[in-house]
Amino acid sequence: MEIKINSTTLSLIKGDITNEDTDAIVNAANSRLAGGGGVDGAIHRAGGPKIIDECRKIGGCPTGSAVITTGGNLKAKYVIHTVGPVYRDGKNREAELLSSAYRKSLELAASKEIKSIAFPSISTGAYGYPINEASEIALNTVIEFIKTTVVPLQIMRFVLFSDKDLKVYEETLRSIIKK
Ligand code: ADP
Repeated sequence: MEIKINSTTLSLIKGDITNEDTDAIVNAANSRLAGGGGVDGAIHRAGGPKIIDECRKIGGCPTGSAVITTGGNLKAKYVIHTVGPVYRDGKNREAELLSSAYRKSLELAASKEIKSIAFPSISTGAYGYPINEASEIALNTVIEFIKTTVVPLQIMRFVLFSDKDLKVYEETLRSIIKK
């Protein structure tokens, strides 16, 4: 599924984000930037040791914030590491922190003149965020950003890891467009 907002094309696809050829891919990192499982592990395995070296130098990243490193051996030139919230019961600023993770990633991308970016579904794996709610926050945040900011971003992709996740994001995007 694909829509155009101002001069940015937003698309939802199924795939492995480590294969993306966008200028930057976003990593769902942990606050120690220590590497881990899920998409984080996949990015470090595919990107090689340069990425973790830079992460060590940076030292850490608070929840809701983002930092940038090289893309190492990846096709992407940069990896933007952002830290989404661990979902408990929805009463611990989870929504605000998840939105902030997307927004800070985009602000960082814009500051580097990045023209294309790929996001995974942040926080919906090990961090347990219910994907229905998370997809609404993710899509509303990036759409709001594109609408209100003059950005060099031409391509924005969500790379979902399963058919089921892709379907959820597609349904959410359809309902957002209808409003
Ligand atoms: P978090 O800790 O933020 O929840 P996870 O990596 O556990 O991060 O999961 C986030 C999402 O990324 C999940 O939907 C998971 O299925 C997905 N994912 C895992 N590996 C990849 C990959 N290689 N490419 C894209 N998405 C991935």
